Amino acid sequence: MIQPPLGKPWLLYALLGSSLVLNLMMVSNKDAPAPADAPVAEAAPAAETTTAPSTVAAAEAVAGLDAPLPEPTVDAAEPATASGEWQFMEARVEHSLARTFQKNTGEHADALSAVYARLFMWDIDLRRDLQKGDKVRVLWRLSETGDVEIAAAKLRSRKYGKTLTAYHWQAPGDEYPSFWRADGMEAGLRLKNSPLDSYEQITSLLKDRPTHRGMDFKTPVGTALRTPKAGNVTRVNWNWAANGNCVEVQFDDGTLAKFLHLDELKATAGARVQPGQVIALTGNTGRSTAPHLHYQLDKGSKNIDPIDYHGTERRHLTSEVTETFKGEVERLNALMKSDT
Ligand SMILES: [Zn+2]
Repeated sequence: MIQPPLGKPWLLYALLGSSLVLNLMMVSNKDAPAPADAPVAEAAPAAETTTAPSTVAAAEAVAGLDAPLPEPTVDAAEPATASGEWQFMEARVEHSLARTFQKNTGEHADALSAVYARLFMWDIDLRRDLQKGDKVRVLWRLSETGDVEIAAAKLRSRKYGKTLTAYHWQAPGDEYPSFWRADGMEAGLRLKNSPLDSYEQITSLLKDRPTHRGMDFKTPVGTALRTPKAGNVTRVNWNWAANGNCVEVQFDDGTLAKFLHLDELKATAGARVQPGQVIALTGNTGRSTAPHLHYQLDKGSKNIDPIDYHGTERRHLTSEVTETFKGEVERLNALMKSDT
């Protein structure tokens, strides 16, 4: 888990808010019922290299840029004052996801809604597709380090006429727990031929905001980074204050791949690299508030979405482990006091 630093520099966090936060801000306009063409609230001059996957930082960014949060209503869940206890929140969407959480979960609402939104961003555009009357359910708690943790979440979408689900579970053989749907498919998509073999979570997509030009992977410092394709290392460690240790590889098809915020480099400028070769270890250097990899693809002046370039795949549980997973789903559903 990411440990939030003590003595938090609020303003810095506000400026370094993650793309999800900015997304949520787009729908958090208190006077508007989240119209499909909601104006983009570009509150922070986010540089292309600016990322903050930390959920705590995310919450602070919202708190710093948005209006004061309303008091929870009387029928809201008790705000979490101590870590460790799972809490269940169930609510109908009224104005926006952010407002729904603010009304029902107290002081950690913004962090919680950011973490919740990440679970379903693959299947639903929460800016465009969320409708009044959609139903949100979440089983969550605060970790000892103050991070929001979700054990299970559901979203009943009127537009799609179905309930999206996500259960936190570590599949046998996986290095990290991830989120799985009730049908045994993973909630998040993965890049084919990914630069990282395993990681905790994709926390930011290229499409999330116009000023962020890559995709962010939350992963511990020291994760092996592999070049997905053969190419030549064109430069390293440029614009260090923003990018930290960084590597740029020109793939043989002309695409320029940029890998930022690294810890240790394993390739030098001018080197020829082969597909799958480890070219660096990921880190938390430059303008970065939590360990993660920023992966960016450019062709000429054009920014390319790694999702389009790589293609994606969705993992599913094997039949051998499905029964175990179903047991966990039943246990979590019971905790959610949920009927569907
Ligand atoms: Zn990034």
